[in-house]
Amino acid sequence: MPDLTLRDVSHRYGDRLAVDRVALTIAAGEIFCLLGPSGCGKSTTLRIAAGLEDLQQGEVCINGQRVAGTGLNLPTEARHVGMVFQDHALFPHLSVANNIAFGLSHLSTSERRKRAELWAGRVGLSGHLDVFPHRLSGGEQQRVALARALAPEPAVMLLDEPFSSLDNRLRDQIRDDTVAILKQAGTPTLLVTHDPEEAMRMADRIGIMQAGRLVQVDSPVGIYGQPTSLFAARFLSETNEIRGRVRSGLLETPLGSLSASHLADGTEALLLFRPEALAVEGAAGLDCEVVRARSLGPYRRVELRLAGAGETLLVARLAPGPLPEAGSRLRLALDLAACHIFPSS
Ligand code: ADP
Repeated sequence: MPDLTLRDVSHRYGDRLAVDRVALTIAAGEIFCLLGPSGCGKSTTLRIAAGLEDLQQGEVCINGQRVAGTGLNLPTEARHVGMVFQDHALFPHLSVANNIAFGLSHLSTSERRKRAELWAGRVGLSGHLDVFPHRLSGGEQQRVALARALAPEPAVMLLDEPFSSLDNRLRDQIRDDTVAILKQAGTPTLLVTHDPEEAMRMADRIGIMQAGRLVQVDSPVGIYGQPTSLFAARFLSETNEIRGRVRSGLLETPLGSLSASHLADGTEALLLFRPEALAVEGAAGLDCEVVRARSLGPYRRVELRLAGAGETLLVARLAPGPLPEAGSRLRLALDLAACHIFPSS
């Protein structure tokens, strides 16, 4: 079965450790996303898998075969990888058909044309085979880049921020189309992005990177719902954070006492929850004063001050409806199942 495996991969630029003992396996048909802030080592990891960066430590295997490790560093062209980058860099002097067929020089002219027609069809560009790149929209160009990378039937696909240059609506469509095409091809795919929404929309599994290290690997649902660190929780979305101290296994906060038996007594900790964990409730709800409310279309973003919690502001994401006035009061319920407690660092 095709797969991509990185074992104990580390990489330094001078004194700087850019990738720190990264290990991952991507199975056939799986889309694995490296997600993290700029500079955390995502691209370096991808470039090491591609052979664009010499391996310094660890091992890279494609389809169970070592392509880089001690004493071995196969060049990119011998690794059978397909790549798409942010600047899709099509050949401007080649038609769509010839761009797609670029990596197929081992085939006869008629086979090349046939394969280009097949892939142009798969990316929805059958009618554009003889068009030149400058006549295509950004999204169409990106589809050609994808088809060009997939046409040689690579063992692994490597995508580095491939959609960042596209505008929002188009980007969503291309993301979904790309997932469908990659799934149909069954090619293990490593996707690099700093955009949590892109990762959640496209990936089967997400690996969060922080300062060169892979700190959590899980499904999109798991990463979002069960972050294992403050860093991972904060990176995925806006959060509410309330400080408290653990006493007798409970974290005492202005929202009430929550079980924190995994932390030692006296620990300073943060109660963390996402804005959608708050919902409008009847008279029994938490008493909050509205500071500011905005409609963001699919939801209302409401900033609140909780009675008894000093100046701490909370953010709620509420279903669309009339905007509450600043200074008015709302009663809110907190979904305790969506709360996380981390030691405050
Ligand atoms: P990301 O893709 O997550 O933005 P990179 O892998 O590009 O991160 O970079 C990781 C770290 O390595 C950053 O601090 C970056 O400045 C540094 N770095 C990347 N490429 C080079 C290079 N060619 N020479 C020196 N430092 C580099």
